[in-house]
Amino acid sequence: MNTLPRAAVSTMKDGEKLFGQIAVELGYVNSGQLEKCFDFQQSSRARKHIGAIMKILGFISDEEMHEILAIQKRSQFEEVAGAAKKRKERTFGYLSVKLGYMTEEQVYACVREQARCERLGLYLKLGEICINRAFLRLEQVEEILELQTRVIFDCHTCGAQYNIQNFKAGTKFTCQKCGAELTVP
Ligand SMILES: [Zn+2]
Repeated sequence: MNTLPRAAVSTMKDGEKLFGQIAVELGYVNSGQLEKCFDFQQSSRARKHIGAIMKILGFISDEEMHEILAIQKRSQFEEVAGAAKKRKERTFGYLSVKLGYMTEEQVYACVREQARCERLGLYLKLGEICINRAFLRLEQVEEILELQTRVIFDCHTCGAQYNIQNFKAGTKFTCQKCGAELTVP
């Protein structure tokens, strides 16, 4: 796989960096051409998106630009969703240890098993694995999940997470990231 020129990586915005990476991976540009696009971006007075520059320089068509943008959007979404899922599982493990239901070693064993299953294309929740291995009973999993919603609350629009431990159910607030109106469950 081609790598991005270092100068480009440090100055480009994250989204454009990803755009460039995808274009290279799809074989539309090589890293030398990407560097050329980057130089063009630096030298032009009105800052243009790296994709627009690829088009101006004739490396990609309109259709290819849309294809790259679609892939970029999807992978950014998956990244955010994946990170939120991991944070949630970490809270689950932390709470089960804090409540004295599991040892840290047991949590790690379950996390490892979860990763193994995921590589086989099977997504199991941490709680399911803990039950399968008889580390937790169903009531305990329910108790932890209940506590977890009290600790971590996701914005339904952008996925931003809030600690709502000290807020009453029904309290309304505005998401600081996207401005959505949220209600504490
Ligand atoms: Zn939000």
